[in-house]
Amino acid sequence: MARNKVQYQKGLSEAAFDRQYGSEEQCRAAVAKWRWPDGFVCPRCGGRRHSLIKTRALYQCTACRRQTSLTAGTIFAATKLSLRSWFRALYHLTQSKQGISSLELGRRLGVTQTTAWTAKHKLKQVMMERDATKRLIGRVEMDDAYLGGQRSGGKRGRGAAGKTPIVATVETTAEGRPVRLKLRRVRGFRRTEIETLAKRSLDAACTVVSDALSCFRGVTAAGCTHQPIRTGSGRKAVLTPAFKWVNTALGNIKTAIVGTYRAIRDKHVPRYLAEFEYRFNRRYDLAAMLPRLGWAAVRTPPMPYRLLKLAEAHA
Ligand SMILES: [Zn+2]
Repeated sequence: MARNKVQYQKGLSEAAFDRQYGSEEQCRAAVAKWRWPDGFVCPRCGGRRHSLIKTRALYQCTACRRQTSLTAGTIFAATKLSLRSWFRALYHLTQSKQGISSLELGRRLGVTQTTAWTAKHKLKQVMMERDATKRLIGRVEMDDAYLGGQRSGGKRGRGAAGKTPIVATVETTAEGRPVRLKLRRVRGFRRTEIETLAKRSLDAACTVVSDALSCFRGVTAAGCTHQPIRTGSGRKAVLTPAFKWVNTALGNIKTAIVGTYRAIRDKHVPRYLAEFEYRFNRRYDLAAMLPRLGWAAVRTPPMPYRLLKLAEAHA
C-alpha cells in the first residue's frame, strides 16, 4: 500500500529550523522579509532609504527621520518575548499535528504558562483571520458535533448542557476526497444558524451533502443545493460512506482536543477550531506552513491580552 503522503512528509526538522531561525538576527531578517518583501518602506513618507538602529530593531527613515519598529503594527508588537521565542512558538504550532498545550509550550520556551498562552492565542488569531473569508466550493459534506461530550445519535439538540455545538464542513473532490475544512461553533443546531454559517463560509454553487437533520436545510438560503441523506442514527450514521471524511475530521479534532487540551473554555473554542482548520488546509506542505503563518502574522494587527481574553464571535 502506498504510504500516506501527508503523514510521511518530512516537514521542518528541528535541525533545519535551528539552521534557519536559530538566532535573533535570523528571525529579525525573516520578519523584515515577510513585512517588506521588496525592502523597507517608511509608513509615513514612503521613503526607502533608511538606517538600522540594530539593538532595538528600529528602522530610521533617512528622509523624514521617523523610526519604525520591525514588529509595530503586527501581531508580534509590544511583546516580552524575543523573536526567537516567537519563532519557536510558530514551529510548535505548525509542525505538531495535534497542537501543543500552553503549559507544554511554556516549558519549551522557558516562560510562564500565561506568556505561552498569550503567544499561542495571538498566533491562533492570525490563523482565524487568515481563513475567515475563504469560502468552500463544489461538493461539501456537513455534519454536526458537540465538543466536550459524546456524539449522541438521535438525541441531538437535547441533553447538551455544558457541551459546545460545532458544525464541520469539508470540501471534497467529486470522488469524495477531502480538500479543505471549515469548523464553526454555532449557538445550536438551528436553521438560522446554518443559514448564517452557509452565507459566510460557502460559495452559492456548493452542493451540500448532510444527514436529514432539519437545520441543514438552511444552506439553501445561501443559494446552495442541499442533498440530505437518511442515515438512521448512532453508529450506523458514522459508517455512511457519504460522510466518511467529515466524520474522520471530526474524530481527529476530538482526539486532539481531548489529548492535548483536556478541556477548553467554551469562549475560546473558535480559535482552537481555527488552529485545526488551518493545519488541515495546509497539510500537504508542512515545511512551508511556518513561513506562511509568519507572512500572515506580520499582516495581522496587534491583539492585546485583554481582547484575547474576551470571547470570540460565533460562526
Ligand atoms: Zn519617512
